[in-house]
Amino acid sequence: MAIVGAGFSGLYMLHRLRGRGLRVRVFERGADVGGTWYWNRYPGARCDIESVDYCYSFSPELLADWTWTERYAAQPEILRYLQHVTDRFALRPDIQFGTQVTSLHYDAAQNHWLVSTDAGETVSARYCVLAVGNLSRAKPPPFPGLESFRGQWYHTARWPAEGVDLQGQRVGIVGTGSTAIQALPQIARQADRVQVFQRTPNYSMPARNRPLPTSELREVVQGYPARRRAAEQSDAGVPIAPPRLAALDVSPAERRRMYEAGWQRGGINALSYAFTDFFTDERANLTAQDFAREKIRQLVRNPVVAEALCPAHHIGTKRTCVDTGYFETYNQDHVELVDVRSSPVTTVTPRGLATAAGEYELDVLVFAIGFDAITGALLEIDIRGRDGAPLAEQWAAGPRSYLGLCVAGFPNLFMITGPGSPSVLSNMVVSIEQHADWILDCLDHLHSRGLNRIEASAQAQDRWVCHVGELAGRTLYPRAASWYVGANIPGKPRVFMPYTGGCGTYRKECDQVVERGYEGFVLGGAGT
Ligand code: FAD
Ligand code: NAP
Repeated sequence: MAIVGAGFSGLYMLHRLRGRGLRVRVFERGADVGGTWYWNRYPGARCDIESVDYCYSFSPELLADWTWTERYAAQPEILRYLQHVTDRFALRPDIQFGTQVTSLHYDAAQNHWLVSTDAGETVSARYCVLAVGNLSRAKPPPFPGLESFRGQWYHTARWPAEGVDLQGQRVGIVGTGSTAIQALPQIARQADRVQVFQRTPNYSMPARNRPLPTSELREVVQGYPARRRAAEQSDAGVPIAPPRLAALDVSPAERRRMYEAGWQRGGINALSYAFTDFFTDERANLTAQDFAREKIRQLVRNPVVAEALCPAHHIGTKRTCVDTGYFETYNQDHVELVDVRSSPVTTVTPRGLATAAGEYELDVLVFAIGFDAITGALLEIDIRGRDGAPLAEQWAAGPRSYLGLCVAGFPNLFMITGPGSPSVLSNMVVSIEQHADWILDCLDHLHSRGLNRIEASAQAQDRWVCHVGELAGRTLYPRAASWYVGANIPGKPRVFMPYTGGCGTYRKECDQVVERGYEGFVLGGAGT
């Protein structure tokens, strides 16, 4: 078995397969485990799902012996957790670090995959699991002249492990997504001057982060099975009771009270979990947008800056950000918002950034410009299935999969949180465990029947793609120019990629496929 990637997905998959006595090799480009939490070491990086939920549930002993110190753990703590998991379950010997998988070619005669790496090695594997991450292929800075810049530049997703000393520096941050929103308050603490180059403002909810007392953690661990079941059956993979009321069915005063309560609680679902129609009814969504914009106007003293920070899209249709002091940071004299919507960045110069409006002199450039999300890391590998057909060709008009797990024409190849599954719309660790468990059950099923091949049928895939599209079409999601639809990558086909039906419903759909004898899959033995 081959697994590509050693983040949350690859590590858990490895652990489960090991339990079956299978021989497994994991290939990881990085020098250590951690995936997202290995690469994204920028100041302020932390999870936006509560730590006690953004972790594995498979081992009660692991749960009991790990101490989360904050409501939202910071990157070093999450990375330490994943290193701890790796060592506790002795996973390291099966992981080949510093190795990028460059191609995966299916050999139909042998019914195996040929896995080639950048080290020039090729190995064969009967089954392959792509645990490459939805947000792991960083978008390179697209600005001409970057090589001429005399200062230092960094992509937040490749932040140096030893950190960057920003004391006394003039720093420019390009981007105002979740990453920049976390990083700005921390960078502003150190730098002499910070200029934030904003093309599109985003909604952000207060994190209300706080230390996690051990007594609270103990209580959570004691009730963990029920808490996790609730998360698994929820829409977003978090144990929060679903809303019961529609926004327009309550009085404006009641609506306001509920939004305010959410805002005070904080977190990514602060407003979205208030009402049932948040993601589906434009008028309901507008009430939450208005509330969020009003908060920005209260938090930012300069009314011109506040207005520039007010987003216009339907709230939630681009990933809602979570912050600690983001908007308030613009009240500091040494922090400036620069509008690059009306005057886009044209070039990087030796001294800084140039826009049509002028040149900005900088010592350090920070690119918080995001990722080629969901399909980027998959298509970076030259994947060829039965008949030698490249995956890139099959996905030329957007990704097509069955359940977000498998692709027709690519036998014995599994994706963890692939396009067409809840993936980035969920607490990803919940989704990762579900996918890895499903894959393991599938392999057990094959082995128990003396079979060794499974492939999604083209018809089942067509039906699934249609179903995912229909579900998304009932929501406001596809209307935003987000990375969910590939809008952040020039030339990428515009298709809404995740499954919007919710984690719980998705899980049922996957289970039904199994109950119906792997409906929609073609199963076979070596000779068939
Ligand atoms: P990753 O963690 O991305 O790991 C994939 C690994 O595969 C990487 O280490 C990569 O180097 C390796 N790889 C990729 N391609 C190859 C190749 N060809 N050859 C060899 N190795 C390869 N999700 C949440 O649910 N809650 C959060 O709070 C949250 N916060 C986030 C914060 C940031 C800054 C980012 C960027 C993402 C966040 N996410 C969050 C999403 C996060 O990516 C997932 O939660 C989770 O970490 C994904 O785990 P993974 O193992 O699937 O992928
Ligand atoms: P992102 O959401 O894609 O944001 C990228 C930002 O860069 C956007 O503001 C974008 O502007 C801007 N940008 C890109 N190219 C630009 C250009 N050429 N000129 C000017 N601006 C440009 O990326 P991200 O902030 O790294 O976040 C990605 C995802 O990772 C998040 O949505 C979330 O899922 C996850 N994440 C989570 C957390 C957390 O809180 N736990 C933290 C970080 C990341 P436009 O919008 O105009 O394109």
